[in-house]
Order: sequence, then structure tokens, then C-alpha cells
Amino acid sequence: MQNFSGKHVIIIGAGRQGTALSRYLVEHGAQVTLTDNRTEDQIGSLSDLCASGVKLSLGGHDPALLTGADLLCLSGGVSLALPFVREATAQGIKLSNDSQIFLEACPATVIGITGSAGKSTTTSLVGLMATRFNEMKGERFKVWVGGNIGNPLIDHVDEIGEDDLVVLELSSFQLELMTRSPQIAAVINLTPNHLDRHLTMEAYAAAKANILLYQKQGDVAILNRDDPGSWALQNSVKSDLISFGFHKPPGSENGSYIDREHVCLKIGKDNLKMFPLDWIQLRGKHNVYNVLAASAIAASASLALPAIQSAVENFTGVPHRLEFVREFKGASWYNDSIATAPERTLAAIESFDEPIILLLGGRDKNLPWEKLADVIRRKVFRVILFGEAADLISNAIGPKKRGQYLQSVVRCATLQEAVKTAANQVAEGNIVLLSPGGTSYDAFKDFEERGECYRKWVNELM
Ligand code: ADP
Repeated sequence: MQNFSGKHVIIIGAGRQGTALSRYLVEHGAQVTLTDNRTEDQIGSLSDLCASGVKLSLGGHDPALLTGADLLCLSGGVSLALPFVREATAQGIKLSNDSQIFLEACPATVIGITGSAGKSTTTSLVGLMATRFNEMKGERFKVWVGGNIGNPLIDHVDEIGEDDLVVLELSSFQLELMTRSPQIAAVINLTPNHLDRHLTMEAYAAAKANILLYQKQGDVAILNRDDPGSWALQNSVKSDLISFGFHKPPGSENGSYIDREHVCLKIGKDNLKMFPLDWIQLRGKHNVYNVLAASAIAASASLALPAIQSAVENFTGVPHRLEFVREFKGASWYNDSIATAPERTLAAIESFDEPIILLLGGRDKNLPWEKLADVIRRKVFRVILFGEAADLISNAIGPKKRGQYLQSVVRCATLQEAVKTAANQVAEGNIVLLSPGGTSYDAFKDFEERGECYRKWVNELM
């Protein structure tokens, strides 16, 4: 573990990661300055932090802060291209972040999980598998789940014991400048994402690769055999490789797969039937991949099979990700508010065979809607548009063509109105799906607030 006593540390970004790291470093003797381009009015009160000894420099990043600085720590939302960060690098100041400092200080085994989609689902499921294993063992250790999901675990690192188990979700932003890898490292998939920040696919893949580049012998890397982006990282693996995919791993390779409607695991010459596919409560092929990943990860962390089985049977998913809300008028209503890009709405549509009433809208991120529009015409029964992007999406779907499956497109001003319209249109056996494809920022604080409002309005229907 690093000694921070007397060190001058600058932290950029007064969000959850930056404030948690500030507290930790001050407690460990560092002289910490937290800087943000927002003012305290925009951030909210930071008086507790000030009282603990953190200095604030808000409303911009004063280059003078860098004089005498030993370390600059970046929150996930902060780009390496920021002039203040470039200046620090030019001056030879070391860069770090909360995840790197956490890994350096954590005495327990850490399972790190990254990927372009499915991180939170897989992390939560592995967390449940670990919790079930711990219960079966008489709660002899503690399970910590966090990182990009939930709480930054740096807040708790001093409470973590050697025998505990940490399940850490890591984003490409956190991985970008890391030079330390967790003992068990999984890359669920790797498809173009966040290219506004990483600029090229190569740079994005290089950031993700850091999750396994610094592993040692005896560590384990988990990759997806069916995803070219994840599988391309096999050349960077320095540890044991366990993979997952639909088909049995060839030759001497180890990993999870599907055989005769069961999730199975091949390790050496042993082939283990883990559980039947119909135990999986989550919808969609993408979630079968998440379960295959979680099973491979859990097996490499030596979690016992009954714990893995019990978690799979009981895991109903993470809120706002194809979350079942209720039955109403004989239809099943789902909340997929996390779907803030057309690609994600596509994954949601592919998860159902029943007639879908799709609630679509929000704010566009300058993304193409044509591919989704094409699938909607063929696979969605009715569309209800809401929010800022309603006209844009309506244009992409275009006028009704003869013979198309899509029956109607209705425009509403708000999501609440869209819920009421859906309640009037719905028939028995339908799926009503909020999978907006746009962000929530036209009308809500974030996707969670949008999902919570949707859930409330759906539950109020009579
Ligand atoms: P992340 O944490 O990486 O954003 P989540 O687990 O929160 O991912 O899932 C968010 C959405 O991403 C889901 O609602 C689904 O549409 C899509 N998704 C989840 N897992 C996968 C996967 N393995 N492959 C492709 N898409 C996925």
C-alpha cells in the first residue's frame, strides 16, 4: 500500500468517486485539494469534506494547484485530454484514480468486471453468488460489491479483511490509466462505445485491456469466446484463461458453455452440468451470456456449485434493466429505462416474442435510429413516442407501409401521458416496454429517476 502521509494530492471531480477518495486520502495523511469546474451551488454542500481537512478549488481548475503536487487523481468523468491533466502530465505529475488506489490498498481477492454492456448485471449476479456461498459457509467472510455500480469501495477499504471477497465493476474510464489488475478479471464483451471520449476503438480496447495486463501467474482472466472484441484480448492474457460462450470450448481450453439446455463448465477433463437454462429468470440472449460469464467467474473464484445455482435461481436482475414491474390488463409491463441508445432498445426488443407496445423517446445523443426503426416496423406491434426526440424517431420510422407488422405510432408530450396511452391500447398477452433509446435528460435527473417515475405511474394504473 502506498504511503500518502504529507503527499500533495489533487483530485478532479467532486462526484461520488472524487469525494470518497478525498476522504480516504485525508484520513491517510495526505494534503488534498479537490477541484471541479462546477461551483458549490451546482454541486451541493461540501462542508463535511472541508471540515475533514480537504481544500476546495471550485468553478474551474487553477493551474497553480499543480505546483508542488505529487499526484493527480481523476474521477471517471474526467478526460485525459483536459488541458489541466495534460499540463500535469507535462510536469511529470503521476496520475491515478480511486480504483487504482483501491486495488493497491485492498488485502482481499478482487474480481474485476468490465465490458461494453452487461457489467452491472454480471457484477450483481456474481455478488449474489458470493453472498450465497458465504451464507453456506456460516458467514465467515464479507462480500463487497461496488465500483462503477453502487458505492466507490475506497470508502470501505480499511474495513476489508484478507479473507473477504470484492466484486468490482470497472468502466473503461476507470481502467484507462490503471497499472494494476484484479486477481480475477473479466471482459464480458467489447463493442464500440464511448468513442466520444476514447476517440478510437483501439484506444477504447486498450483501456479495457488494462483489466488483465497487470495480472500475475495464478490470476485468472475471463473472456467471451463468442465476442470478437473480448476474444481478441486473449493475446494479452498473462494468467490462466477461462472463457464463456454458447459452444463447448475446443481442445484444452476451459470455460462455461451450453449443452442440452444446461449451463455447463469444462475444467481440464471434467465437464460439469451446472444448472438448466430455464432456471435463468432474466429475459434475452444477452442475459444468457451474462449468466455464462458469472458462472465462469464464480467457478474461478472457487465458489461452490450450490451457491452458484441458488443465485441463478433467485436473481431477477438489476432495477431499470428489463425489470418486470407488474401485470395489468393481462399484459406484462417492463422498465428498461437504462436503454439510452437505440442499440440497447434493440437488445430489449429481441428479448420478447409476444406483441410489444414500445414506449420510446427522451433525448437523442446524435445516434442513428434507422436500424432500430427497421426492426420496430417488423417486430413491434405499437409504438408510443414521448419527449424531445419524438419527432426525430417518428421520421425515422416513417409512414406505414403495406403489410408491415407495426400497427400504430402515437406521439405524447410526456412519459406519464405515454403510460396512460399504453393503458388504453393494451390487450391481454401484450408486453408494455419502456426502452426509450434516448437519454432521460430532457425531463428527468437521470435514467433511474425516469425508471422510478415509470414504475410509480404503472403501479398507479387502475
Ligand atoms: P452496463 O453496466 O454495462 O451498462 P447492464 O448490465 O446495466 O450493463 O445492462 C444495460 C443494458 O445493456 C441492458 O438492459 C441490455 O439492453 C444491454 N445488455 C446487458 N448485457 C448485455 C450483453 N451481455 N450483451 C449485449 N447487451 C447487453
